[in-house]
Amino acid sequence: MKSVAIIGAGPAGLMAAEVLCQSGVQMDVYDSMPSVGRKFLMAGKSGLNLTHSEPFEQLAARYGARQKWIEPMLKEFGANELRAWAQELGIETFVGTSGRVFPVNMKASPLLRAWLKRLQNNSVTIHTRHRWVGWNEDQFLRFETVDGEKSIKADAIILALGGGSWRRLGSDGAWVNWLEQAGVKVEALKSSNCGFDVAWSSHFKEKFHGHPLKSIVLSFESFHQQGEFVITKHGVEGSLIYACSALVRDAIAARGTTNIQLDLAPNLSREDVLKKLSKPRGAKTMASHLEKTVGIKGVKAGLLREFLSRDDFGNIERLADGIKNLAVPLVAARPLDEAISSAGGVPFEELDEHLMLKKIPGVFCAGEMLDWEAPTGGYLLTACFASGHLAGQGALKWLGN
Ligand SMILES: Cc1cc2nc3c(=O)[nH]c(=O)nc-3n(C[C@H](O)[C@H](O)[C@H](O)COP(=O)(O)OP(=O)(O)OC[C@H]3O[C@@H](n4cnc5c(N)ncnc54)[C@H](O)[C@@H]3O)c2cc1C
Repeated sequence: MKSVAIIGAGPAGLMAAEVLCQSGVQMDVYDSMPSVGRKFLMAGKSGLNLTHSEPFEQLAARYGARQKWIEPMLKEFGANELRAWAQELGIETFVGTSGRVFPVNMKASPLLRAWLKRLQNNSVTIHTRHRWVGWNEDQFLRFETVDGEKSIKADAIILALGGGSWRRLGSDGAWVNWLEQAGVKVEALKSSNCGFDVAWSSHFKEKFHGHPLKSIVLSFESFHQQGEFVITKHGVEGSLIYACSALVRDAIAARGTTNIQLDLAPNLSREDVLKKLSKPRGAKTMASHLEKTVGIKGVKAGLLREFLSRDDFGNIERLADGIKNLAVPLVAARPLDEAISSAGGVPFEELDEHLMLKKIPGVFCAGEMLDWEAPTGGYLLTACFASGHLAGQGALKWLGN
């Protein structure tokens, strides 16, 4: 009987196992952690955003420069196939107001439980506490286990080791070394969907960390979007920041500190703001005049004070400019470990059309360890499942089934 070793039991690895498990091969899945799918379970904590319901062309475009590689995978196993697959496991999904797709109960655990049961019923053996540490000189896979080091040979290998964020959930990016030692080029892992550092004054930081900044428009290069984010002790975090994080991260890497522009009153034009601010102020402070006339207070007013000089804050023309177009300097991307996902990894140029490493025939790669990135919105899991599916089919083909 032919054997397949899948290393990494996250969504990508388990999907590859799903494709292979009914083909009569011996299927072993290895994971370094004491239990599997930990990042997937974490993704379910705040509502598992499984995929997105937008039209296919729009969905495929979310993968930016990697669209040409991801799109064919999505044609085989995209958003609709993913929803049908979840339904087969007894998990109904629904489309939220934003078009994002969630399981009805929002959680990952019932889905993972049903999935693992089905895989085990189909003779997939899962070995936890098996940490892959590369190959030995005979090209056997080396695993560190509680019983010491083991060497394993398989006819096909699927690596689905994840990226490098949230290390405590299992994916620590250590695989980069072992693939590089085997002659595979790997793009350095970097933060994606991440927050950024801002050099806040200690007064602002103490007063406003944890405060959400709602209904603002953020602009950066080609990016303009309304939404919200949160002030943290280090800087800024949250959905609107994640959405522009790839552009900002690359700009900081190329040029150093960069500014995002905020419109703190997107429902008013600059003229409207100015008209309101021009009303007689009387004995009121500018801060209370600002609140009374334009409705800006709290963290929004704090931001204006943080980045406008005292003179500009007291001048209604320049204050109106600040309200409509406030520059906030971002200093650095937050570390990879804190990011929602990773960019970088195994470039598609190193792989054939079935995700097999050109330099190591019989070894396939899938999931977040591949060099692509996408915004949040279900796009991350969608491509992890799709690439796991493709790698599983590639391994089947390689084994001649
Ligand atoms: C807080 C959070 C929320 C998220 N929410 C969403 C969401 O709602 N929607 C969405 O689309 N995406 C979401 N994501 C992203 C998504 O969870 C990941 O993109 C996805 O889990 C990656 O799947 P993967 O199978 O490639 O890797 P992983 O899920 O990281 O799995 C890799 C597996 O490989 C194992 N492994 C690593 N190295 C070794 C080794 N050397 N030996 C053996 N095993 C090893 C790890 O233990 C792990 O089990 C979220 C991420 C985070 C952190």
